[in-house]
Amino acid sequence: MRNIVLIGFSYTGKTAVGKAIAQRLGRPFLDTDDLIIHRAGMPIKAIFFQGEAYFRDLERKALHEACAQDDAVISTGGGSVIDPVNRALIGESGVAICLEARPETILRRLHEEQSTRGTSEAVRPLLEATDPLQRISTLKEHRQVFYSLADWTVHTDQLTVDEVATECVHGSEVVGQSRRRKAGSEYGAQRGESYEVSTSSGRYPGYVGWGIIPSLGWRMKEAGLSGTAHIIADKTVFDLYGQQVVASLNEAGFTTESFRLPPGESLKTLEHAGHLYQWLASRRAERGHCIVAIGGGVAGDLAGFVAATYLRGMPVVQVPTTLLAMVDASIGGKTAVNLPEGKNLVGAFHQPRLVLADVQTLTSLPARELRSGWAELVKHALILDRGLSVFLAENLESLRLLDPERSTEAITRSASIKARVVSADEKETSGFRALLNYGHTVGHALESVLAYAGLLHGEAVAIGMTAAADIASRMGMLPAGAVAEQRRMLEAFELPVKAPPVDLDKVRSAMALDKKVAGKRINWVLLEEVGRAVTRNDVPDEAVDAALAAIVSA
Ligand code: NAD
Repeated sequence: MRNIVLIGFSYTGKTAVGKAIAQRLGRPFLDTDDLIIHRAGMPIKAIFFQGEAYFRDLERKALHEACAQDDAVISTGGGSVIDPVNRALIGESGVAICLEARPETILRRLHEEQSTRGTSEAVRPLLEATDPLQRISTLKEHRQVFYSLADWTVHTDQLTVDEVATECVHGSEVVGQSRRRKAGSEYGAQRGESYEVSTSSGRYPGYVGWGIIPSLGWRMKEAGLSGTAHIIADKTVFDLYGQQVVASLNEAGFTTESFRLPPGESLKTLEHAGHLYQWLASRRAERGHCIVAIGGGVAGDLAGFVAATYLRGMPVVQVPTTLLAMVDASIGGKTAVNLPEGKNLVGAFHQPRLVLADVQTLTSLPARELRSGWAELVKHALILDRGLSVFLAENLESLRLLDPERSTEAITRSASIKARVVSADEKETSGFRALLNYGHTVGHALESVLAYAGLLHGEAVAIGMTAAADIASRMGMLPAGAVAEQRRMLEAFELPVKAPPVDLDKVRSAMALDKKVAGKRINWVLLEEVGRAVTRNDVPDEAVDAALAAIVSA
C-alpha cells in the first residue's frame, strides 16, 4: 500500500514528475509505458498496429507488475484508468495522485515538445485531429470521471516539475496520515473523518463526524485562523448549537461575534447581504478575522457571499447542519444570493478554509429536510460511485435512523465525491462538475414552475432523476435493471418519483429558458449505468415529452 501512482492525461508531466519524486524520496521509478515496450519488444506504435486490445492487455500486465512493487513511484498511461481492473489495482497499491492540466496547457506542451523533439507516437493522434484542442477536451472529459477517483489532485498549469513533485509528496503524506488515522480509530465518527478539496484557488480539509462541534476551534487554529470569528448563523440552528460553537471557539482563543439570521430562502438577497456588511463594519471586522457560517445552504450561501465580497474577501469556515449542505452546498466554494429575476444570479466562487459537518446536528433537522438531503447522496452514488449505491442499499434502515457510524460513513463518502469533482473542475469549465446536475434539468424547472414552494430541492431532483433515467432508458442507454435500481433507492428514502399536478408546457418553457441561457440544446446528464454518468445534447424531444408525461401521470 505504499506506492505513489501518478495518473492523468497525456502531457500532464507524469514521467518527469515521477522521476523527480523518486529521486527526492530515494525510491525506484517505473513507467508503465516502458514496461509495455520492454514486454512486447517493440515500440508503442507497432503494438497499437496489432490492435488496441493487444495494447490494453499489455498495459494491464505492466500495471500489475508495477503495482506489485513496494515503495515505488509509478507513472501510468493516460488511458489506463478507463479499465476497472486497472483502477482496482491502482487503488490497492498505494496513493493515487492525479496530475491535472487544462486542455490549453496540454496543447501548448504538445506543441513545445513537437518543436523541440518532433511529434512522439503517443501524441500524434491528438495533433492530427482537425481541432486538436477540441479533441483533447473531449477525450479528457470522457476520462475525467476516472481521474477524479484519485486520492489527491495537483493542478500543474502554473507549476514547474519540481513544484509539482513537492505537491505530490505533500499529498501522499496527507493521504497516508489520514488513512493511518482512520485505521487507528474504531470508526471515524469518534474523531471526524476527513476529505480534502484541492483546487487551483485553494486547498482545504473537510471533517465529518458525530459530535465534533467541540473540535471546531482547534481545527480552525490548525487551518491558520485566529482573531475574531464573526459567526453568521441560521437562528434556529444557533439556538440549538450556538453555545457549543462559541465555547469551542473561545477555548481555542477566538473572540466571537454573532449574527442570527431568520431561517428561509427569502434571506438570500442583496438587501440582507447589505445588513451583514453593515454589521461587520460595526464590529470592525478585518481581513485577518474570519466568518463562520452555521446552518443549511441558505446560511452557507449568504455568509459565503458576504465573506467573498466584504473587504474584497475574508476567510470563511462552513459548518453545515443540513444533510444537503453537508454533502453539497458547503463544499466547492459556490456562494450566491437571489434576485427577483431568478435564484443564485449574483455570486462568487470563494472556497472555505475548512468545512466541519457534525452529523449529530441532523438529529434535530425536520424529517422532510432530512429525506430531501438523501436525494443528494443517492445522486452522487448514481453518477459516480456504484460502491456507495451498494452501501446505501445495504444500510437503509440504519441510515434512516441516523446511526452514527453508518450515517457518518455515507456522508463522508458522498462529501468526498463532491470534493473530488470540485477538485477536478472547480469552476465548471471541463463539463465534469456538470455531472452533479443529474436530475436538475427537470428538477429546476419543476421548482421554478411551482415557485419554489411545492417541493424541496432534493424532492425536485429525485423526480428529475426519475425523468432522466426514463429518457436514458428510451434512448437505449440505460438498462431496465438500472432504472429499477434507481427507483428502488429513491423510494426507500421516501423520495417522490412523481411530480405534483403541474402544467407540462410551463415545465418545458422553464427548461427552454435554461437552454436559451446556454445558447444551445439542453445538456442532459444521463446515466449509462449506476455509478457512471455522461452529458448528452442530442436527446430527442419525443423522449423528453414521454418522460415528462410519465412523471405527472397518476
Ligand atoms: P436551509 O438552509 O433553508 O435549511 C432548511 C431548514 O432547516 C431551515 O429552516 C433551517 O432553519 C433548518 N435547519 C438547518 N439545520 C438544522 C438543524 N440541524 N436542526 C434543525 N433545523 C435545522 O436549506 P438547505 O436545503 O440546507 O439549503 C438550500 C439552499 O442551498 C438553497 O438556497 C440552494 O440554492 C443552496 N445550495 C447551494 C449550493 C452551493 O453549491 N452553494 C448547492 C446546493 C444548494
